[in-house]
Amino acid sequence: MARPVLRDGFDRKVDYLRLSVTDRCDFRCVYCMAEDMTFLPRQQILSLEEIYQVAEAFVALGTRKIRLTGGEPLVRQGIVGLCQRIAALPGLHELCMTSNGSQLGKLAQPLFDAGLKRLNISLDSLDPTRFRELTRTGDLAGVIKGIDAANAAGFAHTKLNCVVMKGRNDHEINDLVSFAIDRGLDISFIEEMPLGAIAEHSRADAFYSSEQVRERIAERFTLLPSTDSTQGPSRYWRLAEAPDSRIGFISPHSHNFCATCNRVRLTVEGRLLLCLGNEHSADLKSVMRRYPGQPQKLEKAIIDAMQLKPWRHDFQLNDEVQVVRFMNMTGG
Ligand code: SAM
Ligand code: SF4
Repeated sequence: MARPVLRDGFDRKVDYLRLSVTDRCDFRCVYCMAEDMTFLPRQQILSLEEIYQVAEAFVALGTRKIRLTGGEPLVRQGIVGLCQRIAALPGLHELCMTSNGSQLGKLAQPLFDAGLKRLNISLDSLDPTRFRELTRTGDLAGVIKGIDAANAAGFAHTKLNCVVMKGRNDHEINDLVSFAIDRGLDISFIEEMPLGAIAEHSRADAFYSSEQVRERIAERFTLLPSTDSTQGPSRYWRLAEAPDSRIGFISPHSHNFCATCNRVRLTVEGRLLLCLGNEHSADLKSVMRRYPGQPQKLEKAIIDAMQLKPWRHDFQLNDEVQVVRFMNMTGG
C-alpha cells in the first residue's frame, strides 16, 4: 500500500515535523530570549504522552523526519524515553534534535542508544567570556564537552549552528569553521530572524548576511559550491581544504526558501505552526484533550490544518518585531 502523504493548499508535500518539547532553557541567548523570561505553567504544555501522540499521528500521515527542539529539549525530564518511543515509530526515517549542547556530556550516549540519529548543536563563540555574554548563562567548556561526547557516542553528520551578529561574533567565523573541520562536523551560519522583542542589540545593526559570511570564509578557505541539499533552508558549500565538512547558510532575509518548504512546527502548547514567519496555527492540544483515545480526530485536524499553510514569509530588515513569539516558543 502506498504511504500516505500530507499536502498543503499549494501542493507542497509536508513530511517534516519540528516538535518543541519545552519552552524552557538553561541559556538565555541574546537573540532568542529576554533576560527575564516567564515560562508556561505545566498544565498548559503537552505531556510526554501527548507529544508522542502527535508524533505518531504525523508519522501515520507520512512524516519521515522529526526534529525535537525547544527551548532546550534536554532540560525536559523524560526526554530519553520519549526519543526511544518516537524513534521506534514504523515509517519514520530520521529522528533528530537541535540542542545547545549543555547536557550532552551526560546524555549523548543514552540518546544515541535510544535511536536519535542526528544532532544540531548551537555554538556562537569559542571565547568563554563572549560565549557567556551571548548566552547570558552558558558555559563554553560544558558545551565543548557535550560536542565531544556526541562524537564519542557515535553521532555522525553532527552540525553546528551559529547565529552571526555584526560586531559580536563575526570575527570568529573562521575559527568556528576550523573548529568544525577539526572535529569532522558540518557548520551552518544563520542570519538572525526577527522573532520576539529583544533589548540587547539592534537586529538591523547586527545584521550580517550570508554573503558577508562567505566573503569572510574566503579570506582563509576556498569555498566550492555544492549540490548537497536537505530540502530545507540551508544551502551548502564545501571547502577545498576540508572536503568532509559542509558549510551551510540559512538566510531567511537574503534567500527566500518558502517554495520548497516541507515542514511544520508544533509548539509545546500543542499549537501547530504552519510557517515560521507567520501566525497561522491550529490548536492540536484541544483536539487531543476533547477526544482522548481517538487518533483519527487528531489526524483529521492535522490534515485540515495543512490548508492554513501560507505560501511564504517575508522578514523585513528593521527592528520591528514581526512575529511576537520568541524562537524558544517556535521550536527553532
Ligand atoms: N536550545 C536549542 C539550541 O539552541 O540549539 C534548540 C532551540 S533554538 C531556538 C534553535 C536554533 O534557533 C538555535 O540554533 C538558535 O541559534 C536559533 N535561533 C534562536 N533565535 C533565533 C533568531 N532570532 N534568529 C535566528 N536563529 C535563532
Ligand atoms: Fe535556549 Fe536555544 Fe534559545 Fe539559546 S537559542 S536561549 S539555547 S532555546
